[in-house]
Amino acid sequence: MGTGTLHIDLEAIAANWRALDAMTGADCETAATVKANAYGLGVTQVAPRLFREGCRAYFVATADEGLELRRTLGPEPRIYAFYGHMPGDTATLQRADVVPMICSLDQLARHLEALPRHPFGIQLDTGMNRLGLKMAEWAATAELTLKAHPVLVMSHLSDGDDPESPRNADQLARFHEMTDGIEVPRSLAATGGVLLGPDYHFDMIRPGVGLYGGLPFAAAEPVVTLEVPVVTCFDIEPGETVGYGGTWKAPAPSRVATIAAGYADGLPRTLSSNLDVMAGPVSCPVVGRVSMDLIGVDISHLDRDPERVTVLDAHRGIDSLAEAAGTIGYEILTALGRRYGRRYRGLDA
Ligand SMILES: *Cc1c(COP(=O)(O)O)cnc(C)c1O
Repeated sequence: MGTGTLHIDLEAIAANWRALDAMTGADCETAATVKANAYGLGVTQVAPRLFREGCRAYFVATADEGLELRRTLGPEPRIYAFYGHMPGDTATLQRADVVPMICSLDQLARHLEALPRHPFGIQLDTGMNRLGLKMAEWAATAELTLKAHPVLVMSHLSDGDDPESPRNADQLARFHEMTDGIEVPRSLAATGGVLLGPDYHFDMIRPGVGLYGGLPFAAAEPVVTLEVPVVTCFDIEPGETVGYGGTWKAPAPSRVATIAAGYADGLPRTLSSNLDVMAGPVSCPVVGRVSMDLIGVDISHLDRDPERVTVLDAHRGIDSLAEAAGTIGYEILTALGRRYGRRYRGLDA
């Protein structure tokens, strides 16, 4: 086995979905956001496990992701695409029975023209300025659009992960202003919005990162463990350096392990000298720069050479790695490399 092994706990993902579901009322549906291959963890494994847990609504980004998911889950669940109805998507949306979440007036026109009887949803921009109809656009077109019977109206919070941000209440107020009194089911909350409380839940929540064990869902069960084999171990003299650019210099006679992962496997170069890995119960600092496929680790304090080290586990999750790398857990998750072997716990037989 030449590469690392990524352990993905589908039971923990199911438990996290249940926990978020339990925070909402009985008349609020709990969907799952599984875009980008379920945040890199494998949509063909994650989605069926959530389906078994009772999840019947899924969000992806692209129509093609919707098609893959439809093939995985069969005809029953609803699948919504955040990119809406892009040029060239018509056949895929139709074939895969995917609901485009319309995000502009151009898309709305395209959709009603190309697939007049195909269900669609509407995205409203309440202040994030990314996707969705603006207040004035909605005011001008809502009456006509509602006659075409959208199946869902949604918006997205820019600061949902920060309960202190005044933008949350602003966006909530604007969402009310734009949608109160309409008959269509409404959705505002991703993971962060769920945690902001019932005012933000409306008819459907659509968490992503919380399912996969990431912040802002601090109470989430950890989902991923990453073990990486050691390629070689050797001694170096005081004053010798390790890796590209010689950024780490041995202060004393040292022993170094070179491990089989690097930035090509989703361990960012910015982690260099800012990360510890575990050899069994013992913490070992990364030394020198992270290279494409290899990382140096100081093992001078171990009694014997390890065969493998743990980079991610229940105690050092994606968010501690993210902090060490100067990024967010989402980016660590979605970058975890394709070279790793993947082992799933809780896979359907
Ligand atoms: C990605 C995304 C989600 C899920 O967000 P999390 O923060 O991962 O829970 C929900 N809604 C939209 C529009 C998104 O882009």
